[in-house]
Amino acid sequence: MKKSGRNGFRFFKGEMNAQALRWLALETRLRRAIERDELALHYQPQVSRIDGAVVGMEALLRWHSEEIGAVPPGDFIPLAEDTGLIHPIGEWVIRRACFQNKAWQNAGLPPVRVAVNVSANQFKAGAVSAIVRKALADSGLAPRYLEVELTESVMLGDSAAAEAQMAELRAMGVSLSLDDFGTGYSSLGYLSRFPLDKLKIDQTFVRNITTEQRSAAIAQATIALAQGLSLSVVAEGVETIGQRDFLGLIGCDVMQGYLYSRPVPAHEMALLLAKGRVA
Ligand code: C2E
Ligand code: CA
Ligand code: CA
Ligand code: CA
Repeated sequence: MKKSGRNGFRFFKGEMNAQALRWLALETRLRRAIERDELALHYQPQVSRIDGAVVGMEALLRWHSEEIGAVPPGDFIPLAEDTGLIHPIGEWVIRRACFQNKAWQNAGLPPVRVAVNVSANQFKAGAVSAIVRKALADSGLAPRYLEVELTESVMLGDSAAAEAQMAELRAMGVSLSLDDFGTGYSSLGYLSRFPLDKLKIDQTFVRNITTEQRSAAIAQATIALAQGLSLSVVAEGVETIGQRDFLGLIGCDVMQGYLYSRPVPAHEMALLLAKGRVA
């Protein structure tokens, strides 16, 4: 009994060490990822349900490590948040998205807005509006072609600093979109207090929209709320025609999801922009 307990403990400790070592190794690699040019942005179009026109796009971070291959954002973003690496990486994301979008416009492609994900820790550090201002100035991208996606966690706790940065972004002409709406803890009061332009219906609700009354009700309520507050609304994670049609029936006209396109590398996004529509 005692022996097996000790063995159990030793085994557990060994596992912990292995896990910690893996994180340490991953952190060392992630630290070098920017200078080694291992990070890239992929882009996923946001599409008008009515005619398939590309009306926007979201930039999504990809890391291809030379030693370990592709690492999904769900694995390395939490590590970046824990280690503070999210700050240089997040700044890189904002700058790359601005320069890329401006390059497409310079090449004569129809201009659309690019959305970037900015985490609560980035807002907490207080420099988001300054970083965005500099990225816009350096790239020459007009502010109306940039959107910042933030989650409800940005508005939790001592949120005065976040509110000030959001107001500055808005004043510059950058749009603000609330990501993963309905999955966080924020009260609806935040929606009128913070200067938002858009709500994104989270994919967990979209996934079950045609099969689960509760998900359909939440999506429907989100759309009604957005309309009441004069916010626009985007559904994410749209994978089927059934989901698209149901979202259309309840009044959502802009969609993002595999039904239209997966996130694609920049050269493929350029083709979609040139065509102006998907499929
Ligand atoms: P998110 O911001 O909610 O991004 C949407 C995620 O859903 C993306 O996953 C996208 O590839 C995926 N997706 C899009 N359409 C569909 C669909 O039809 N079905 C399904 N099942 N999934 C779909 P991805 O690229 O793996 O990113 C995961 C998360 O990592 C993002 O969730 C975001 O929270 C974070 N992330 C990605 N890029 C960045 C970044 O540059 N900065 C920060 N702070 N976070 C990022
Ligand atoms: Ca997002
Ligand atoms: Ca989302
Ligand atoms: Ca998400």
